[in-house]
Order: sequence, then C-alpha cells, then structure tokens
Amino acid sequence: MAKANYWHFSSDYYCRSLNTLEIGLNQITAYKSWRNHDPGRGNPIDMRYKAMPILTKEDMRKFGPDKFSPADLNINDAIERGEISFVETSGTTGDQVINIWNQSWWDASEKSSWKLNSDAIRLATGNHREAILVNPLNVGIVSDKVDLSLEQRHLARFLYLNEKTDPLSWNNAHMDRMIEELEIFQPVILEANPSLLARLCRYITVNRKQVFQPGMIVLTYECPTIIHYRQIKDVFHVPVVSSYGTTETGYVFMQCEEGNYHQNVDFCRVDFQPFQEEHGGPDLGRILVTTFNNPWYYMIRFYVGDIVRLQESNSCPCGRNSGMILSSLEGRWDNVTLTISGRLVSLGELDRNLSVIKDIEEYQLIQLAQGVYEIHLVSQQENKKDLNSEVYTVLQNLYGQESQTTIYYEKDIAPGPSGKYVLARALFPIDINDFLE
Ligand SMILES: [Zn+2]
Repeated sequence: MAKANYWHFSSDYYCRSLNTLEIGLNQITAYKSWRNHDPGRGNPIDMRYKAMPILTKEDMRKFGPDKFSPADLNINDAIERGEISFVETSGTTGDQVINIWNQSWWDASEKSSWKLNSDAIRLATGNHREAILVNPLNVGIVSDKVDLSLEQRHLARFLYLNEKTDPLSWNNAHMDRMIEELEIFQPVILEANPSLLARLCRYITVNRKQVFQPGMIVLTYECPTIIHYRQIKDVFHVPVVSSYGTTETGYVFMQCEEGNYHQNVDFCRVDFQPFQEEHGGPDLGRILVTTFNNPWYYMIRFYVGDIVRLQESNSCPCGRNSGMILSSLEGRWDNVTLTISGRLVSLGELDRNLSVIKDIEEYQLIQLAQGVYEIHLVSQQENKKDLNSEVYTVLQNLYGQESQTTIYYEKDIAPGPSGKYVLARALFPIDINDFLE
C-alpha cells in the first residue's frame, strides 16, 4: 500500500526490525522454515518482513513457548533465577497459549507506552497507586466463593477491586465496596475492562452515588465501545484513554490526549494488512505485531486477532509522528459480521451505528446465517415499541433492508469464557483471507 510511505519511522526502528528478523531466522527454531521466504539481506527490511508468513496461536501451540527463545539460551536457569516464567493465557481450551513471561520487559514496554499520552507521562511514575477493575481471569486473584479483604487484594502498588469471575454475580454490596475502596485507596490511575467499569458506572448513575475521581482512567483488555465510554464519562470526569496490547506482545498502541492511537515504536514493529476496498480498505485492516528487546521471547508477525482503522491523514494534533497512527480499534476478527450482500462489518462500525440509540445499556449481536441476525439488549426504557423500531431501522440500514433481526431483551449479558465480553459474532466461519487485499 502506498499508505505505508507516509509513516515516519526512525532509523533505530529499522535497526531493531532488522536485528529481530535476523535473530528470528537464524537462532529461533520456530522461524527456521521462514528462511525459505526471505528475499535476502540485500533487500529493504520492510520487503523482507512482507515476504514472511504470519505467526498464529496454532503455531505457538504446535512449537511450545521454548521454541521462540534463541536456541543457545538456557530457559531453565532463567526460570530458576526468577527472570522469566511460563504463563497461560485465559480462554477456552482452543484459545489457550503458554507464553514466556518476562516481567522486566513487560514493565519497560508499559513505561514506554506512557510517553504516548500527556496525562500518563505526567501521572505514571512507576510507583503510583493503581486500582484495577478487571476480570480476575485476566489478571488478579480469583475468589468466587469467599470475599477477599482489601489487604488480600492489595499487592505492591496495586489494588484489585474485583475477585469475582462472573460480573453478573456482583451485588450492591460488592459494588459499594468498590466505590468505598476507591475513596480509601485514592488511586492515581484506575485501569479497567471497559465493560466492567461501565457496569459499575451504571450502578453509580442509577443510585446517584459519589465516587472518587482518579487522575486518569486507562481502559484495557477489551475493545471499548462508544456506549461504554458514554456510561463511564457520565460518572468519571477525568481523562479516559485506551491502551492496546496483549500478553504475547506487551504494549502496542496507546491513545493520546487527542483520541488517536500511537504505536509503541521502541517495543514493537507493526505490519498492517488492509482489507479490500469494498470491505473497508485501505484504512481498515488487521495488524501483525513483532516484539523488540525481549531476549527471551521472539514474536514475529504475530496475528493478534484484532482489526484497526488507520488515521486517514496519518497525523495527529498532538504532534507525535513516529510510527503508525490509528483512529480507532475496531474489535477482534471474531467480532465481525457480514451484511446481506457479504460486506464486512467490524465491531467498531456496528457500535458507531448502535450507539446513536441512547437507551441501549448493553448489546450483543449474533449473526445466525446470511441476512439473519439476533440482538440481545439490556435497556431500562419502558417503551419497547419505539426502541424496537429504532433498532430495526439502524440494523436494516447497516445490514440491508431485507435483513431479518429478532430482538431479545435481557436482564444482563454475560461475558465469554475468557472473562471478556463478546459484543458481536457470526455463528459460521468467516475466513479473513477472503477479505484481505
Ligand atoms: Zn496523538
């Protein structure tokens, strides 16, 4: 894509890209077969990356974590020293992957991402108090049967506000405890799953509770929707930004104070593959992430499963211009649905359409077959007739006038098995290769 020519990368970035690829091809078992794809050292580094296959979770399961470490390093010694460990990501059995966890690299990657947001760089010192409201399946301590005390959930500078894996089990006392603990702990930063924080915010709004205002809120683990943002902004009058990364890749993008997402160029390379024009390309596409500076674990062109939208002008009023700039995270590939004519609809596009309806608290859209959808809604609106007609109009305009939708009203919508919410999905396989340019 001609677009790539507009991105500005430092010469250091190209050095790191080159070193990482050379070590990968020459010293790492998992990438041995990739050498056959290499056009050779005399070629531009971007061209060499582009010629390589992609790394999937299936590859990672097939090889096992140690095959992503240079062959001459002794992993067992490093584990014994406490330098690294093996960690398993949460999810259904089919999604689980064992990774090599390197805490000091992770911390450095996080620290590097802070400079991409003026509030983060001002507030995050590395020893600031941080409250965390996430599903304990992702991080923290699971305790579904017994409530844990504040002391039991207070580890170093972190306070884990929630120990329950099922947010539907949160009762008023549990949410009151979170509100109280924010007041006691006075976090500088509140890090949260957007769906869980939105849930707490709905409770605060309905019950007109007062809540402590942290310096800023960082959303992570899930793609935040406009509806989540709105519910959170009703309660918290502080900067709310989204940080994007994964267990495998560390911190990849950080939203700046202007709302765009900047690449964490010192810690990762990102390759962008656009979708075909009729499916949202050339600005909509998937990303492949290559990690830098982690001597124990080489992720090269890792398909994280997420799709993003490039910032059209590739510039941002904040002035940061190094690396890729995104205007939005568009959700996971697993969240895409298709219109009646087969056009791709990202979660981001669905959300922008549904979010004009003010009375939706939560939604989950499921595509059953071509042109057939069901939507599950949580809404306090009593006049369901008007709401129904608004929803039908929005979905017909998006998916096609002939599309058929059934609406179900729910008291609550549960998260998926990994602890993260699934806001949209199709019940039939959609092959990403059919949509890439
Ligand atoms: Zn910016």
